[in-house]
Amino acid sequence: MPELPEVEVTRLSFSERIRGARVTGVRIGKPLRWPLGCEPQSLVEQTVSGVTRRGKYLWLTLDRGGLLMHLGMSGSLAFGAAPEAPGPHDHFDLVTGHGTLRLTDPRRFGAVVWSASADSGAAARLLANLGVEPFDPAFDGAHLHGALRRRRIAVKTALLGGEIVVGAGNIYACEALFEAGIDPRTRSDRISRPRAARLAASIRSTLSRALELGGSTLRNFRDSHGAAGAFQSQAHVYGRAGEACERCGGTIRRIVQGGRATFFCPGCQKR
Ligand SMILES: [Zn+2]
Repeated sequence: MPELPEVEVTRLSFSERIRGARVTGVRIGKPLRWPLGCEPQSLVEQTVSGVTRRGKYLWLTLDRGGLLMHLGMSGSLAFGAAPEAPGPHDHFDLVTGHGTLRLTDPRRFGAVVWSASADSGAAARLLANLGVEPFDPAFDGAHLHGALRRRRIAVKTALLGGEIVVGAGNIYACEALFEAGIDPRTRSDRISRPRAARLAASIRSTLSRALELGGSTLRNFRDSHGAAGAFQSQAHVYGRAGEACERCGGTIRRIVQGGRATFFCPGCQKR
């Protein structure tokens, strides 16, 4: 599943090249998670003035409103000058004077939705419950501590919800908790303020590392899972059940929390 770093790397892969491009055509494939919400033809002749990201959504600003895009479970976006004829999993093409932006999504949980602005209409509804951005200065120890205190669930489950902070997907939540030395089963309202500060810093450094790795694979970037794949090969606990912890030599464990696999080191991570 594409996580925040992959979505940001995807954005960086085409945002400069598409800026200022005029839309010359729109091609729709099979239905995605939500309908487009406008006549495809109404997008033609509009200019793409920029691409921003909020959580795992991308927002393409047009002259009148914009397009909110999500990669779902299996989606990827590619921008190129002369794309091949659309295949069976290519469900949206935005053809512009600078090239074609194509959404490929075998499982079709992704979406392209028109909205009058990023903070009204369909976009506002979809973005309403997102937590703070991890690189926003507002996301600090005090913010995280306050938000965790209002919940009484396992800290890892609280992070995965995305309502406190966006971007801490499964692999990144596991790694950040390892970095911070916090047992993922710890009840969220029992985490002290200093530990919350350490966890906030770990979430940021974990995501920074994933972004750097994703950026380094940008040149031949066609697969939005590239960043996660590169990151996973360097993970300390994620996917390493039964292996020796590289810090303490103990055995890394796998448990299931809220239906998701959690990996952690019982030696390094304390309640
Ligand atoms: Zn350990």
